Amino acid sequence: MAMGKLDKKIILLKVGTATLTRGTNNISRGKIEDIARQILELKDQYHFIIVCSGAIAAAKQFIQLEKFGDEINQKQALAAIGQPHLMRLIQETFRELNLHVAQCLLSYHDFNNEQSKENTFNTLNILLKNGVVPIINENDTVATDEIKFGDNDKLSALTAILMEVDLLILATNTYGMYDEQKKTIQEVKNIESVKKYIQQQHSAQGTGGMHSKLEAAALAQNRQIETWLVNGHEENFMLKALKNESAFTKIN
Ligand code: GLU
Repeated sequence: MAMGKLDKKIILLKVGTATLTRGTNNISRGKIEDIARQILELKDQYHFIIVCSGAIAAAKQFIQLEKFGDEINQKQALAAIGQPHLMRLIQETFRELNLHVAQCLLSYHDFNNEQSKENTFNTLNILLKNGVVPIINENDTVATDEIKFGDNDKLSALTAILMEVDLLILATNTYGMYDEQKKTIQEVKNIESVKKYIQQQHSAQGTGGMHSKLEAAALAQNRQIETWLVNGHEENFMLKALKNESAFTKIN
């Protein structure tokens, strides 16, 4: 897959539905703008890839579907409806800051097929070289893995590995992982050793998702990619983490 090295480091940012909606029922233009402004500020130093969910949430803002089929099929249909709305919101917001975006829909299956992997690598590489920010979501029409579990956490790790990114940032709604005193664990080397805190965090914060984030981080760690768990609800969450002005968990 040799295609000429990129001139800048790559950050892969994963934003889930909870971050993008700020915990409400609507996609937050403000949060999209916050992300775009941070990318604008950092774009001379880094290339960015965003793995972004929120298609189902976007659809629910516009339509209520009649119930046919099971719950997962229903979600797939909503994702198909919501994806173009989600991209429209992202594209409009990024364009105002002179940033170009592209849409790439992927599934786990694509990472098991050499040809698909190569095609994906080449496409993303050309986008990055042209200063375009790829916005990736699961292709929910053909795959249901991330709708069932994970909200794109694993997809982001697989993409990070494929693109050999320098840093994987998983936005979440806490300041990383907390210990039993509710203090952020700043650095994790042994992922197994912090799994005991997940359940606690789940009940204390009323949020899920830490389990799949740790699984994603473990995949990345196996390939020497560092993962940061940062609080995506905070303004400038990436800038603050990069300047060490905000608490977050580094998994390396
Ligand atoms: N791909 C789905 C979306 O964009 C994932 C949502 C989820 O798992 O909550 O809506």
